[in-house]
Amino acid sequence: MKNYKPEQLERWDKQYVWHPFTQMRQWQKERPLIIEKGEGSYLYDVEGNKYLDGISSLWVTVHGHRKREINQAIIEQLDKLAHSTMLGQANITSTLLARKLVEITPEGLNKVFYSESGSTAVEIGLKIAYQYWQQQGEEKDKDKRKFVSLVNAYHGDTIGSVSVGGIDLFHKIFASLLFETISAPSPYCYRCPLNLSKENCSMECVNEMESLLDRHHHEIAGVVIEPVVQGAAGMLVAPDGYLAKVRELCNRYNVLLIADEVAVGFGRTGKMFACAHENVSPDIICLAKGITGGYLPLAATMTTNEIYNAFLGEVYECKTFYHGHTYTGNPVACAAALANLELFEKDKLIETLQGKVTLFTEGLKRFKELQHVGDVRQKGLMAGIEIVENTATKEPFPVKYNIPHRIVLEARKNGLIIRPLDNVMVLMPILSMSLTELTQVLDIT
Ligand code: PLP
Repeated sequence: MKNYKPEQLERWDKQYVWHPFTQMRQWQKERPLIIEKGEGSYLYDVEGNKYLDGISSLWVTVHGHRKREINQAIIEQLDKLAHSTMLGQANITSTLLARKLVEITPEGLNKVFYSESGSTAVEIGLKIAYQYWQQQGEEKDKDKRKFVSLVNAYHGDTIGSVSVGGIDLFHKIFASLLFETISAPSPYCYRCPLNLSKENCSMECVNEMESLLDRHHHEIAGVVIEPVVQGAAGMLVAPDGYLAKVRELCNRYNVLLIADEVAVGFGRTGKMFACAHENVSPDIICLAKGITGGYLPLAATMTTNEIYNAFLGEVYECKTFYHGHTYTGNPVACAAALANLELFEKDKLIETLQGKVTLFTEGLKRFKELQHVGDVRQKGLMAGIEIVENTATKEPFPVKYNIPHRIVLEARKNGLIIRPLDNVMVLMPILSMSLTELTQVLDIT
């Protein structure tokens, strides 16, 4: 490709591109960061500046940028086949990947339905749960058409996934487009919705969920949850035992548990899947982001045999799951995912993570002493540092001061890329980072 001057690229970007989750007026005023290449834990911009990637691109990079083995797997697959449809056909890498995913995910998840993003993985999970109740068992189960979702939840940006989302800033504007859900409190312990303190937390939020299920279970298809950490809400770490209790309630009230592991899956929380922290097997799991280690778009929604079986029938019975995207199960993306998963094993990544998590936990402690840090939350290699103007009242800084963005720009000047969520500074280091690099991420932050 021709070498373009940075100024030229900036001009064209500002002229032609609309960036996601970005206030474009502000974008027009600033010098954009234009990334040209990556290597290991670093990204390089078009002017040759080097940055540690403190957010794993967007929470996706696992083994680092420009990883030889994954690049090679992609090239080899491209040499054979770039794409062929999965509608009525199979391809080799999607079959092999499905087999592998069944092997490594929580027990009982035996069937894999592919798509391309976290949003679509969730959308598919919702549709499967909905159709399942329409097609199986007793007549009264057909009333199970609603979902329980959490306040502060983020499950993506398609209409279904926004419907089960609970972040007002992103979701409120679309209210009249969305389907109705039943909302349960979020386990946001720093700002407990039930006004409990961490010391006297008796997981009242789960009791609230219980009373919701008690009243509404006959009309509820499933509970949708981000296991262990509500990511986009600002890294809200649920109290120990929360997820297991929700699983128990779903069993008791005969509703499906849909675990959205898009952000927390593939090692991010220190275990391969967050559900493993509490030995939970969901009925449906949604996977994306780390599935290809950050190389190509791919997602998977996995279910139990019991759910899958409810979709079996003669063609005329119309029990088929009528859902599918053109690029579903793309063989190149599946080849990248297979190479990514092989590296987990070869590099014993989950085992080596433990030392990094300890360093990260220790390193984060010093932030708690800072004048404007209200809370520091962490699980594995994901952390959120909540910035407030006043730690006593927990009052955030007025938005007009744009504090998080100023921190981002300051970090960038010092060679680190981070990205906030509202007033929470997010650290999502690449899982393969060395201890030295991790320390640098903390020091610069
Ligand atoms: N679910 C969760 C928990 C997420 O954090 C995200 C994205 O951050 C999504 C779903 C949506 O994924 P995508 O952006 O790939 O559509």
